Amino acid sequence: MEQSADSKRIKRSERRSSSGPRSRERGENMTFLFLSAIMYFLPTILARHKADFMAIFLVNLFLGWTVIGWFVALIRACSTQRYIPVSMVPSAGRFCSQCGALSPSGVHFCGTCGRAV
Ligand SMILES: [Zn+2]
Repeated sequence: MEQSADSKRIKRSERRSSSGPRSRERGENMTFLFLSAIMYFLPTILARHKADFMAIFLVNLFLGWTVIGWFVALIRACSTQRYIPVSMVPSAGRFCSQCGALSPSGVHFCGTCGRAV
């Protein structure tokens, strides 16, 4: 621990010099940048399997720098998926071309309007 504190002090003093622990400092900066990017795109990473992934990604990308936009994207990424209810249509049966009513299969005339199906 004491050695690392010493090396930090040395690094800080040698920041302007062209030689020395400069490449290591750059590596630390790259690590910091990488971790920052992961933190910034955390909502997108969490939403990668969602149906509205693209919307969350765009909000994250363009509004994430405002802290509010980042939280909006995070909340949307963490919210439960909303399913749009689709009424089940029975596969057997035909729709009337005139009125649109569903008639059971095997029927030749519409039960609602009386036209031929
Ligand atoms: Zn009909």
